[in-house]
Amino acid sequence: MNEPLSYVQPTAESPWGIYLGQIERVLPYLGPLARWAETLRRPKRALIVDVPIELDDGSIAHFEGYRVQHSLTRGPGKGGVRYHPDVTLEEVMALSAWMSIKNAAVNLPYGGAKGGIRVDPKKLSIKELERLTRRYTSEIGIVIGPNQDIPAPDVNTNAQVMAWMMDTYSMNTGATATGVVTGKPIHLGGSLGRVKATGRGVFVTGREAARRIGLQLEGARVAVQGFGNVGTAAAELFHQAGAKIVAVQDHTGSIANANGMELADLIPHVRCTGGVAGFAGAEAVDDEDFWSVDCDVLIPAALEGQLRPERARRVRARLVLEGANGPTVPSADDILAERGVLVVPDVICNAGGVTVSYFEWVQDFSSFFWTEDEINLRLDKIVVNALKHIWDTADRHKISLRTATFAVACERILLAREERGLYP
Ligand code: NAD
Repeated sequence: MNEPLSYVQPTAESPWGIYLGQIERVLPYLGPLARWAETLRRPKRALIVDVPIELDDGSIAHFEGYRVQHSLTRGPGKGGVRYHPDVTLEEVMALSAWMSIKNAAVNLPYGGAKGGIRVDPKKLSIKELERLTRRYTSEIGIVIGPNQDIPAPDVNTNAQVMAWMMDTYSMNTGATATGVVTGKPIHLGGSLGRVKATGRGVFVTGREAARRIGLQLEGARVAVQGFGNVGTAAAELFHQAGAKIVAVQDHTGSIANANGMELADLIPHVRCTGGVAGFAGAEAVDDEDFWSVDCDVLIPAALEGQLRPERARRVRARLVLEGANGPTVPSADDILAERGVLVVPDVICNAGGVTVSYFEWVQDFSSFFWTEDEINLRLDKIVVNALKHIWDTADRHKISLRTATFAVACERILLAREERGLYP
């Protein structure tokens, strides 16, 4: 009865196609709730907007913007906004669906949403970026709001962009609405602990997974791809727990030191030079050889699609922690499983960020702000409980942690769907 969507043409390895494959895998574990599964294969709402702005030279430029609300069944939409020249409707759809899964997997009272603009922000001046953000926010203003859908930063958007979004929405509605976005500057209703929250979640899931497979963090060797927000925070926490950071790769190159690197030197080096290349406390290695560095834990925390089959065959780690969104292509996932490498999937591994976004939203509503220690403790508790439930599900059905995360999340979403019933 159900025709495929006419507005995207997914393939097996395109974002929406990968997501549909993940839904197929989980159907056998949903029992009678599987009859609602088609609601997961269709976004509830997909808005495409024209974003015209006047450039500094007086000319007019048009950009294509999106906001997709995959599911609003368990609560308001929640998910970031990405500025990138390769953004497509299909990518935003998949990212919004993965937000539904992630939010349900950690049991946050949210649905899933995502937004984006097809633009290379590096080609815009700061004033042009502000005009782009304000016009985009006005255009999607008909679907966002503190109780409807709450955007956040993603690739190439930051606290400043969120401040402009919050201001634009507030101007249009006539009242300051801090809760319309998360990831804001601290003095505009942002939350302590948000900047490092995703990396902290990666560490917490890694710590729990290591304990379960009998891997001691003291002395464990860790390799990190991506030394930005997520990779740096995760590396720092592993380092503090006694692990050695033996290899790091970013867009400037790859470096390794079997004895472990001094992060107190590496972090300022990256801040001053823009990347890890040239760091005196390690040797340069070939970018492809990074994947076969002798290590116990591998953290892809850069881009999607990085762990491909040829790289997956070379991985020597016992544990892969997906800090990035979608870093492992499905065929590489199968290879890692065959080789006995445990993968903690993105939808739970990097959920620390959205968890502290949830804390920010709650604090904005109550206008009462928590200490960083309180935030970190609550984050730890939520992530540990979520991972325990997922692990138990994986053990019960003898399935991967990825399929188990989808099973837990889809069950919660579809149960809510069944309880709410179909309108009208
Ligand atoms: P970031 O921009 O701060 O850092 C990205 C890092 O990746 C940089 O070190 C960059 O040099 C590196 N990189 C870029 N291209 C590379 C390449 N070709 N090869 C190797 N390294 C490369 O971004 P971030 O916020 O740390 O996000 C990283 C990933 O984590 C993304 O997939 C993002 O969607 C995901 N994520 C981020 C958050 C968050 O709160 N920031 C939350 C959930 C998921």
